[in-house]
Amino acid sequence: MKLTILGSHAAALRWQAHPTAQVLELAGRHFLIDCGEATQMQLRRSKVKFSRIKQIFISHLHGDHYYGLIGLISSFELLGRKNALTIYAPKGIKEIITLQLKISEAELSYPLDFVELESEKPERIYEDDKVTVDTIPLHHRIYCNGYLFRAKIGQRRIAIEAAKKAEIDMAYFNKLKQGYDVPNKSGKLIPNASVTLDPHPPKSYAFCSDTMYYPKIVNQLKDLQVLYHESTFLESHKHLCERTMHSTAKEAAQIAKDAKVETLILGHYSGRYKDLEDFRREAQEVFPNVRLARDRKEFSF
Ligand SMILES: [Zn+2]
Repeated sequence: MKLTILGSHAAALRWQAHPTAQVLELAGRHFLIDCGEATQMQLRRSKVKFSRIKQIFISHLHGDHYYGLIGLISSFELLGRKNALTIYAPKGIKEIITLQLKISEAELSYPLDFVELESEKPERIYEDDKVTVDTIPLHHRIYCNGYLFRAKIGQRRIAIEAAKKAEIDMAYFNKLKQGYDVPNKSGKLIPNASVTLDPHPPKSYAFCSDTMYYPKIVNQLKDLQVLYHESTFLESHKHLCERTMHSTAKEAAQIAKDAKVETLILGHYSGRYKDLEDFRREAQEVFPNVRLARDRKEFSF
């Protein structure tokens, strides 16, 4: 699992401070999560291939989370994209994008689909043979979802030395991965567990975009591997959280602690702070394993 942060800041695009956008690589899929202004430039700088993105997940319709979308959709067209693109976003997105395309008389070279969200409850919105994606309803000024990405449990792994020793023909390796007992070269049935290892634990990532401190989400986040949680402010500006419906670093850490996740990534920093390390310091008072999102930083898990 690889996470590329394209933008990690709140509000307006500033020199070297891009608004929210991330690419999550999970089980071979490339998911774009939020699409703030200049996301396509950040994709290019991070050398993410445009054609690999087939799904885009938008948390909410505040500009710093989706104003890069129409530009990206247009660039896909200019580059002659053929692959279908699906956009998962709050209700309203289809009207916005369709109007922009209509007035400019743009005809796309690829199918563009929308999945509009309006449920206040978590729902499964995407599933394939390797991955599921669920919404995490958040508490913000307008309707807003986080997204929970989970890889499905993989196949058993061959213990090569043990399999060789048991004289199993390679033609049976696929059966072994599926958990079957198989015969060896002399026809003896070999128990699967003696020549295979358990699958790797499935990877999981939750993206919690703009929200107030909202303990209701903890249940959905239990024992996850990686949690991204916004931390727009430090405790010294906690009074601003209520008005703007954002969280502090300490509150994000409390969610991580209560959910018992392995790693917390902070981001969506307000422009008023000079030293982002202050976010880490504040969060670590509550939860030890804190990483800071920064523009174009990559995390591997
Ligand atoms: Zn917002």
